[in-house]
Amino acid sequence: MRPSTRGMLLAAKRDYYEILGIDKSATQDDIKKAFRKLAFDLHPDRNKDPASEEKFKEISEAYGVLSDPEKRQKYDAYGHAGISGAYSQEDIFRGADFSGFGVDMEDILRNFFGGAIGGNFGGFGFQRQRSGPQKGRDLETAVEITLEQAATGATMELSINRLEKCSRCGGSGAEPGASVVTCPKCGGTGQIQRSVASPFGRMITVTTCDRCQGRGRTPEKPCTKCRGDGVEEARRKIDVKIPPGIDEDMYLTLRGQGDAGIYGGPSGDLFVGIRVKPHPYLLRKGSDTIYEVEINVAQAALGAEITVPVINGEEIIKVPSGTQSGDIIRLKGKGMPSRYGRGDHLVHVTVRIPGKMSKHQRELMEELAKEFNSEPQKRGFFRH
Ligand SMILES: [Zn+2]
Ligand SMILES: [Zn+2]
Repeated sequence: MRPSTRGMLLAAKRDYYEILGIDKSATQDDIKKAFRKLAFDLHPDRNKDPASEEKFKEISEAYGVLSDPEKRQKYDAYGHAGISGAYSQEDIFRGADFSGFGVDMEDILRNFFGGAIGGNFGGFGFQRQRSGPQKGRDLETAVEITLEQAATGATMELSINRLEKCSRCGGSGAEPGASVVTCPKCGGTGQIQRSVASPFGRMITVTTCDRCQGRGRTPEKPCTKCRGDGVEEARRKIDVKIPPGIDEDMYLTLRGQGDAGIYGGPSGDLFVGIRVKPHPYLLRKGSDTIYEVEINVAQAALGAEITVPVINGEEIIKVPSGTQSGDIIRLKGKGMPSRYGRGDHLVHVTVRIPGKMSKHQRELMEELAKEFNSEPQKRGFFRH
């Protein structure tokens, strides 16, 4: 039997696990994280590579299947043949029928980008048919801040491309001076009915009027700048206030800062994803911060006062005498701010045992050894 073209296409498809960079034992959480990371990197705002759109489709499809336990099971058992069903990838992205084994792209994107579909993803083929006033599309972007900025809060300037009300016609779509009249093509109904001959008799099809895009009204003379859409592309700088205590992967929603609505609809929202740069020597764990410090044997044995960095400066702390490697000194309320009050700063202590010593240090250590050796040796397990 001659293999069909379709069969060959399927055979050439990459493994879904490989696409997401995970292995077969990945949990749902792993899958979600992997997709999220890749989707961020491939976002058209950050990635100008023309191949990123294809890659985005690929990871979305892989995610759509692997995140659904039923589809994943079929895929594990039968490979691509098990889940492709009647849908090719192209069908899926053309927005055909998302039931059955297809993957609902809009659903995936809505879950990940909080409704930020369309807009910058417009190129990915989710544009809906226009009719009447529509809410502007939601947009999504990301901002990177330092750990210090996450602690104190900050105002960051974002640069975004979005649709704004046309500066020439003010959003009406009509050339200044021209009026908006009832659409001559559809008579104001916004729909066009066509009667088509078929083997079963005449059939009536109803489509949205292409002259007025379903509004029923149309400018006598369309605006020369926006060609009647009422919106134009603009690059805009927006200040965004980052509240103190914000963490990686959180989102800020800026209401009404997305694309302008079409034909008088409200503006969409702007979702700002937060990225926190790793700090050179402080680690964050929830609302706590962690610093690792090394002390010497004498400091551990005798106790000492040392200076350690905290998120907004330095603190002098007391290392008690008898401190062991692995001990944690907790500075209450010196961590990150959070909804539940400020977290703690944890100083993880390591005691450095000297290897190379000066002659004098060695003499002193030998002196100390004699003293220790005269003590009776304890037997047993000493871990505490
Ligand atoms: Zn205009
Ligand atoms: Zn019309």
